[in-house]
Amino acid sequence: MRTWDDVRADALCCTRCRLSRGRTQVVFGVGDPKASLMFVGEAPGFHEDRLGEPFVGRAGRLLDSLCADVGLSRNHGVYITNVLKCRPPANRDPQPDEIASCRPYLQEQLSHIDPGVVVTLGAFATRLLLEDVTGGPIDPARVPVSRVAGYRFDLAGRTLIPTFHPAAALRGNEGALACLRRDLRLAADVLAGRVPTAAEALGLNRPAQPGPEHRREPGRDRRREPGPDPRREPGPDPRAEPGPDRRREPGPDRRREPGPDPRREPVQGRLL
Ligand code: SF4
Repeated sequence: MRTWDDVRADALCCTRCRLSRGRTQVVFGVGDPKASLMFVGEAPGFHEDRLGEPFVGRAGRLLDSLCADVGLSRNHGVYITNVLKCRPPANRDPQPDEIASCRPYLQEQLSHIDPGVVVTLGAFATRLLLEDVTGGPIDPARVPVSRVAGYRFDLAGRTLIPTFHPAAALRGNEGALACLRRDLRLAADVLAGRVPTAAEALGLNRPAQPGPEHRREPGRDRRREPGPDPRREPGPDPRAEPGPDRRREPGPDRRREPGPDPRREPVQGRLL
């Protein structure tokens, strides 16, 4: 495996795809390289391209504010990056070949940072990492973000929590804003040990998952606050205890995009 510095240096001069021609600079990512929480967004926008840091515009400020509401901060134990490291022209959607070209950087970032919790913001990041969960392509028509937001998926021992991109909330989608609030709280709860990781909920024996062994490793505590030791004190039964109360927190506007079905099992480690 390449070193972190090698990966970063490679990305900063990357010309693997056409986006290299229009960028001001590569936006590799920002934060703690040993973070326990990693956000993955879509691509740099205008401000990110100028400043070289992800989520620094309005969407970034909203994300910071929502994180603060649940006790999270991008300055502590958090790493933020995007699927694409270069800005698409006019902020258009990422193209499949661009995602394929840039994907290795994200995978190397995940391997090096090794976060316990990964939150994907928006459709592109969600689909890309759900493909790693399922091992196959995700049909965007069948799996909109609204269908998987707020669920926990086991991503090789990490807990993957998909949710909406803050830009969706800024466009007036109040359901997306409610889901973001709910899902960031879920991420904070998993990190704090108040909610089982996806692997724990599924009873998987994952050596890489953030369990008590990791909590004892100095400098590698994936949870910000140690929770109960699941070997001595079983956590809540995910089959019996629902996750976020979807009766109180409305999902996305179902006239535009159906939200998660609250009647479904709230904890899922595998997709569909
Ligand atoms: S988007 Fe990714 S693959 Fe394309 S040029 Fe930028 S760093 Fe390289």
